[in-house]
Amino acid sequence: MRLTCPLCGERDLREFTPRGSAVFADRPGPEASPEDWNAYLHLRDNPEGPTRELWWHGAGCGCWLIVARDTRTHEIFALTPVGEAPAP
Ligand SMILES: [Zn+2]
Repeated sequence: MRLTCPLCGERDLREFTPRGSAVFADRPGPEASPEDWNAYLHLRDNPEGPTRELWWHGAGCGCWLIVARDTRTHEIFALTPVGEAPAP
């Protein structure tokens, strides 16, 4: 599979590393319970359908990208540098 990095152009999928959801949960406050911290740090959604993820182009430009894709079809809609992506 080939992806088009906005900085490098078309590259092999293996150059990119998915790093999880690009929609970040609210950080617990200092008074939060260990259970709240565990949920914040370790529990992630596994959505079906359109999603936005944070990917790193580690074998290319090193850019962090927001990847909009569909988890059911693997279709990729857009790769956008983090600083240029619209808010979720
Ligand atoms: Zn790149």
